[in-house]
Amino acid sequence: MSEAINEEFRNRHSTINKEGKRNWIYALQPKGKLYQYRTWLSYFYLILFVSLPFIKIDGNPMFQFNLPEGEFTFFGVLFTPQDFIMFGIGMLIFILFIIIFTLIYGRIFCGWICPQTIFMEMVFRKIEYFIEGDGNKQKNNNKKEWTTEMYVRKTIKHIVFLAISFGISNIFLSYIIGIDGVFTIMREPISNHVVGFVAMVFFTLAFYVVYAFVREIVCTVICPYGRLQGVLLDKNSILVAYNYLRGEPRNKKKNSDGAGDCIDCGMCVNVCPTNIDIRNGTQLECINCTACIDACNMMMKNVGRPPELITFASENAIASGKKFEFTYRIKSYTAFLGILMVLLAVLVVTRTTFDATIMRVPGQTLQENSDGTISNLYRIKVTNKSNLTLAYHLVAADPTVKIERIGQPLDSLKGRQLTEETFFLKVLPANVKKRKVDFEIKLMSGTKLMESKKAVFISEY
Ligand code: SF4
Ligand code: SF4
Repeated sequence: MSEAINEEFRNRHSTINKEGKRNWIYALQPKGKLYQYRTWLSYFYLILFVSLPFIKIDGNPMFQFNLPEGEFTFFGVLFTPQDFIMFGIGMLIFILFIIIFTLIYGRIFCGWICPQTIFMEMVFRKIEYFIEGDGNKQKNNNKKEWTTEMYVRKTIKHIVFLAISFGISNIFLSYIIGIDGVFTIMREPISNHVVGFVAMVFFTLAFYVVYAFVREIVCTVICPYGRLQGVLLDKNSILVAYNYLRGEPRNKKKNSDGAGDCIDCGMCVNVCPTNIDIRNGTQLECINCTACIDACNMMMKNVGRPPELITFASENAIASGKKFEFTYRIKSYTAFLGILMVLLAVLVVTRTTFDATIMRVPGQTLQENSDGTISNLYRIKVTNKSNLTLAYHLVAADPTVKIERIGQPLDSLKGRQLTEETFFLKVLPANVKKRKVDFEIKLMSGTKLMESKKAVFISEY
């Protein structure tokens, strides 16, 4: 960091002015390659966000986070409370992923992928530009006495904001209660779905307040991930950074002797949605949106100097003057991230649809049968973790072992339900050469093997 930089900026928050009041940010719309990429990414993201709740796989939603019932659906696979171990491992991997990703790539998630930034910068801010004009125009108009036209424009803006917030709220709810649940709340009388209706209104107002008024404060004050970055980042983390070696000393006059490349135009600050000056160094408020990179590249082009005075680089890379390169550290951490992702994918893919436990019925001893076999009595508890009713029967892996089910044997299992039944395992005495022998029982759905379980057979050896 350049010694010339005054550290006074660290004593106050970027969205609070000297009088302690909210410093409303009139960010200018950036123009440039990265902003274009972000725009395309946002189209893709918004299409995905809206369409995913409508996609179903085998009758299950593609993604659903049914928090009230503790159930989660990923890629159509339902995870119930019985999968809590996998859920725990998944959460652990997720947290590790966040830590390592932030350690290497800084806060790029915030600026490019986080729904808060996508909706704020790519939806609500663009609508505001369209209705009220660019940042400078809004700032000038708000300083003046409001005209009738301004009242009309602001009213239209807030109605549109509210309507979009209602849409986001419904889509958001459909990730929790399913799209069918949302349509049911809309179709049926409110009295049938008071909780659902209240949730709809609450989320609509919450999104409206966030995008119309709270805005960047979510990223700079409220979001815990933003707070965490202070401990997750180090001097090798890749961030949006100002190359002070090249930029300083700043000089507005082109080609002044000894002057750096920064022409002190202030464009990097004017486009910043959190109102910070990245030339002061890494700051908590920077969401790595890269708007300042685009703005500065445009200015560098205008004055005929090379781009990337503000760029993606680590503090160490800037200090050493080296260009960005994939270091051994980045490669090894990225490989570790890949391994974590593969581990999670293996857990998900190898997860079974039927979850079963087989126990010998307590108090029951070995029985000798008239057909010359000996038997033990078992109870099986099976949960069908899918949403569908599935065919079900039991088969012993050893063809000489017979399963005799008691009572009314089940031929199917209802979705998301736990069922129980009792059965005898009949074996030839010659097959039982120890006091305890394990026999493999296959849980089948039609011809498909759903799971294998061991049944412990106890003889009188
Ligand atoms: S400093 Fe640059 S990257 Fe950081 S929030 Fe501001 S404009 Fe975005
Ligand atoms: S946009 Fe670039 S040239 Fe202009 S003030 Fe910022 S760093 Fe300096």
